[in-house]
Amino acid sequence: MSDPGPAKSCPICGRPVVDPTHRPFCSARCRQVDLSRWLGEVYRVPAAPSDANGSGSGDDDREE
Ligand SMILES: [Zn+2]
Repeated sequence: MSDPGPAKSCPICGRPVVDPTHRPFCSARCRQVDLSRWLGEVYRVPAAPSDANGSGSGDDDREE
C-alpha cells in the first residue's frame, strides 16, 4: 500500500501540486503570481517615514 500523501492543489490555479519544488504552488509561475499579489498589497500601504534617526541617545562612548 503506497500512500502518495495528501494531494494539495495550487492556491493560484487550483491544479494539483505534483512538483514539490514550488510548494505550495504547482509551478514557479504561480509562485510569482502569488508573490506579485503580495507585493501589490504591500506597495499600496504607505511606508512610514523613518528618516529621523535618534543620534546620541544612550550610546555614550566613554574613555577613562
Ligand atoms: Zn498553479
